[in-house]
Amino acid sequence: MSIELESFRTKVRAFAESEIAPHAAKIDRDDEFPADMWKKIGDAKLMGITIPKAYGGEELSYFHHVIAVEELSRASGSAGFAYAANSNICIDNLYKHANEEQRKKYLPKLISGEHVGALAMSEPDAGSDVIGSMSCFAEKKGNNWVANGTKRWITNGPYANTLIVYMRTAAKETGSKSITAFIIEKGMPGFTQGTKKDKLGMRGAGNCELYFENCEIPDSQVLGEVNQGVKLLMNGLDSERLILCGGPLGIMQAALDVVIPYCQEREQFGQAIGNFQMVQAKIAEMYTRMEASRAMVYRLGANFKDHPNRNRDAAAACLFSSESSTSVSLDAIQLLGGRGYMNEEIPGRLLRDSKIYEIGGGTNEIRKMIIARDLLSRKK
Ligand SMILES: Cc1cc2nc3c(=O)[nH]c(=O)nc-3n(C[C@H](O)[C@H](O)[C@H](O)COP(=O)(O)OP(=O)(O)OC[C@H]3O[C@@H](n4cnc5c(N)ncnc54)[C@H](O)[C@@H]3O)c2cc1C
Repeated sequence: MSIELESFRTKVRAFAESEIAPHAAKIDRDDEFPADMWKKIGDAKLMGITIPKAYGGEELSYFHHVIAVEELSRASGSAGFAYAANSNICIDNLYKHANEEQRKKYLPKLISGEHVGALAMSEPDAGSDVIGSMSCFAEKKGNNWVANGTKRWITNGPYANTLIVYMRTAAKETGSKSITAFIIEKGMPGFTQGTKKDKLGMRGAGNCELYFENCEIPDSQVLGEVNQGVKLLMNGLDSERLILCGGPLGIMQAALDVVIPYCQEREQFGQAIGNFQMVQAKIAEMYTRMEASRAMVYRLGANFKDHPNRNRDAAAACLFSSESSTSVSLDAIQLLGGRGYMNEEIPGRLLRDSKIYEIGGGTNEIRKMIIARDLLSRKK
């Protein structure tokens, strides 16, 4: 890793340790972020990492962005997760596909942390088969589109100001050219943001349903081209997978941060438990899983633009790092013994936060399909 990237990491770590980590337990317990968290992340210049300076961004790489998610997630899994949903999934996609007027209107406030963003694809009946089963429909009427339908489990949904929302805009039979992305604003007539769902982990990060009831969307809110939404969706998925991998990396590091001092200090049978070979084996396995995940993710991050098997390897990095994070968090619980099972301790939160990375942004079963299909499609 370059000296420049290491110094970027040091800067983000200092911010995460002082501004996020002290609130992590409370965020989890109360299911609420501190009110000024988004603004502070914006002031730390982390919201627009990959966006040109003209819109308030930093013009850095996706590799920088992974490191930022990793360090924020080390401090608080849910802060890292909500941050990634805003900075990559909303902001980066918006920049890539918006016209100049839209970029100028939406990006500066999202990047400063004044506004929060979200992206909505999933629906009650459209999860893994999100394109084939999407039923939210927007119909062109004059200069407007009239939208109806429900989106489900949208991260940052309850409080987002700006949302990228995918809608079907032509008959399903038209195939992949029947979906359009729209920029939706909080408060548009006919658009309602649901109340926050009570979740297993990633508490603080709000998830909710979004309701469209004869919502009139001006034509100027189309993101990209009409009926080209699938292209946009596919275009964003690889970088989304890469950036999300920072979450499991940070959570695994947080697990080791807890476990190592504990195993040095906790004594049984007259000595530190870290002296026992079975404890050492667990620590070694935790570390190896974390470093193997890092190697996969960083290799992809370092060469993201020109990576020859980006789609397959982004899915593989997500698959391996998410499973590793769940496994490492379980090991952390085990190594703390009874304390590991207490909600007042950190490892339980790490386990609950880890699990979403096996589901969100496409499940691990779908990732396995992507990897195997790519390998099997090669010519003999
Ligand atoms: C906390 C959280 C945050 C989220 N944030 C967002 C967001 O911001 N925006 C958004 O659009 N969506 C979001 N989602 C939705 C998420 O992307 C979906 O939950 C995910 O894609 C899976 O869809 P599903 O839940 O409908 O599961 P289903 O598709 O119903 O799958 C159920 C099970 O069946 C398996 N399965 C399905 N199809 C196959 C197959 N062909 N082969 C093998 N197994 C299969 C799945 O792997 C899974 O184990 C979020 C979800 C959660 C829980």
